[in-house]
Amino acid sequence: MKKLLLAGGAGFIGSHLVDRLLKRNDLDVLVVVDSLWTGRAENIDHIRDQRLVLVRSEVEHFKSDFQFDEIFHLASPASPPVYMREPERTVSANLIGAMRLLKLLKKGGRICFASSSEVYGNPLVNPLPETYRGSVDCTGPRSSYDEGKRCTEALLLESNRVRGVDVRVARIFNVYGPRTRADDGRAVSNFIANALAGKPIVVHGDGLQTRSWGYVDDIVDGLERLFWLENFNHVGAVNVGNDREISVLEIAQYVAGLIPGTTIVHDEPAPQDPTNRRPDLTLCRRILPGWSCKVPYEEGIVRTLRWFEANGGIAEMTATHAI
Ligand code: UDP
Repeated sequence: MKKLLLAGGAGFIGSHLVDRLLKRNDLDVLVVVDSLWTGRAENIDHIRDQRLVLVRSEVEHFKSDFQFDEIFHLASPASPPVYMREPERTVSANLIGAMRLLKLLKKGGRICFASSSEVYGNPLVNPLPETYRGSVDCTGPRSSYDEGKRCTEALLLESNRVRGVDVRVARIFNVYGPRTRADDGRAVSNFIANALAGKPIVVHGDGLQTRSWGYVDDIVDGLERLFWLENFNHVGAVNVGNDREISVLEIAQYVAGLIPGTTIVHDEPAPQDPTNRRPDLTLCRRILPGWSCKVPYEEGIVRTLRWFEANGGIAEMTATHAI
């Protein structure tokens, strides 16, 4: 039986991964480490499983007597306004967090990292293959997140090269869905939260910038396959995302159409906002045959809206409780 550690397991994507991990019958403990900086204990409150242990700690400072068979590193904010407010903490969670986690990995164990399409920066090619080296501004306002992810990829993949550590790196493209915080600051959650509160949807710039919006269940399916896969012989990062590219304005208009009376206003473009972003999924399809994003945004947004309505998503999130 295995001991598993998931850093960031009370977060949006992390909590969905906890649900999946606890369906496995080969583990005797799943330790979730989360500082509750952007994660919420409520995201895993529904779980009644003796194998789950929740520890409130920054990943960089987490100590344990265990060595773990599998480690999942999802401890990072992902929302631009959040990481731009606390850039040092963002670099630290990703990079120093990964250094700490490597120390807790059993010899022969596996470490999985949630990297990001942000490693490509404002891309000059479309779609984005993993071989594209990116165009990140290393001193720009997004640099703490982008370079934090890039350097953590380097650290982990070099630990594979030098010490043979089993490393899985997913470059996750935009994700939305239930358990996003209403105050997270991302497009879909902001649009829904504003519309439900009777406020206008605010589109940064003209809204013609594009993203490839992945519904959380689809993305976590992809992560599950990539992270659990035995006989994995690929070394390097793998894109995980939806390759249907849609403009921000189209998403805004769709949300506005679901909630009568909603208006759309435009403000200044966000700083260094990428103009486009779409994954090339050739490698992903080869490594994860049969996997693809199945939920179109038209349906995923309705499901997310229903969740926000049922979970009081229009209210400011209250302080998370201590564990
Ligand atoms: N966006 C927007 N209004 C908002 C939040 C985001 O127009 O209230 C835009 C943002 O400028 C970007 C896109 O939506 O072009 C996606 O932003 P998000 O923060 O969700 O993700 P990321 O920028 O990391 O792709």
